[in-house]
Amino acid sequence: MNKYILCLFFGMTLIFSGCSREISSDSLSGSAQSPPAQEETRKESGPSENAKSDEVVLSASRDIFAMDTYMTVQCYGDQCEEAADAAVLEIERLDSLLSVGNPESEIIMLNGSGSAVLSDDSAAMVEEALSIYDGTGGAFDITVYPLMALWGFIDGNPAVPDEDALHETLSKVGSDKLHYEIAEKSLTLGDGQGIDLGGIAKGYTSDRLMEIFAKYQLRSAMVSLGGNVQLYQTKPDGSLWRCGIRDPFAGQDSNALLGVLSARDCAVITSGAYERCFADENGTIYHHILDPKTGYPAQSGLSSSTIVSKSGMLADALSTACYVSGLDGAIKYWQTRSGDFDMILVTDEKEVYITKPLQENFSTDYPVHVIDEGGIQ
Ligand code: ADP
Ligand code: MG
Repeated sequence: MNKYILCLFFGMTLIFSGCSREISSDSLSGSAQSPPAQEETRKESGPSENAKSDEVVLSASRDIFAMDTYMTVQCYGDQCEEAADAAVLEIERLDSLLSVGNPESEIIMLNGSGSAVLSDDSAAMVEEALSIYDGTGGAFDITVYPLMALWGFIDGNPAVPDEDALHETLSKVGSDKLHYEIAEKSLTLGDGQGIDLGGIAKGYTSDRLMEIFAKYQLRSAMVSLGGNVQLYQTKPDGSLWRCGIRDPFAGQDSNALLGVLSARDCAVITSGAYERCFADENGTIYHHILDPKTGYPAQSGLSSSTIVSKSGMLADALSTACYVSGLDGAIKYWQTRSGDFDMILVTDEKEVYITKPLQENFSTDYPVHVIDEGGIQ
């Protein structure tokens, strides 16, 4: 019998009201939402009315399972059905291109052969990942793949690895051992290396969905790809979306929120230790965000890290990177590019650190410290 308990926390629905902190929100960042109540994993809903005075706005939504998580797409506008269908097709296309569970995916083929000329999609992610690797001192490192496999996170059979095997595998990790020719989009892996785009792919995907929504001239849209939220324009009535941030200290079955961010036209992406984790027989919890320096699940003093950015890809990669870097590392990185993203960091001591531009639009009951260009205020 497997002595480890796998805990995949799919504890939330996308739209809800009346959580335990008495706050309501339109979407939730940081928690893969529950599967649809009905048996099938894809739902189609017909046009409906979303009242703004006497105006009728058509809406369509889809629930799908892809990239190993539950996803929801909500579209508002005259071409909402077409946009929602196109979004589902794009998610499915990227899932089969990138999935480490699909033996024919581009990433699995690359990991098997050791080199490849990348598709435009993979190249965009690899280039962003390499830049964030450099900028964060290696906290974000797509070459964690062999470590993820050793920990059993790839085959869904997680267990604490043997020390020697961990050190041997750790020696293969490091994006500095990759050879990437940007002009040809050609990537060659170092000996024993493999790449895993799991820390960036959902954010890249939600960026692509925003392009689709623009093409179909939607009024509004919102996607949640396993708790990675991206907002297109405002809500249909012109008000800001209210995006709930999951409380990292809530129990696994709780709907409690850390707070609510009012926002539009941006990605709100949270990484935390509470997703995809397992406990050993002593009750020690191990999660799926690895520190590439130690090979173990990151323990940086942060309980969750939320990134807000126009770019879903950047927000996704940085939510993981900042979680690994910890408070000081995340602040230093933000100070180098504060125009590109903002963040809400929660420490293990239950203190919230938020960059100044978000302050006005974020409400929480936890103690808040504001970060500006000079550091913590
Ligand atoms: P989620 O996928 O649950 O939304 P993250 O965005 O934080 O959470 O991504 C975690 C995933 O990123 C892991 O499942 C793994 O595929 C990959 N990963 C884990 N550690 C790192 C790391 N240090 N750098 C880059 N990718 C990582
Ligand atoms: Mg991420």
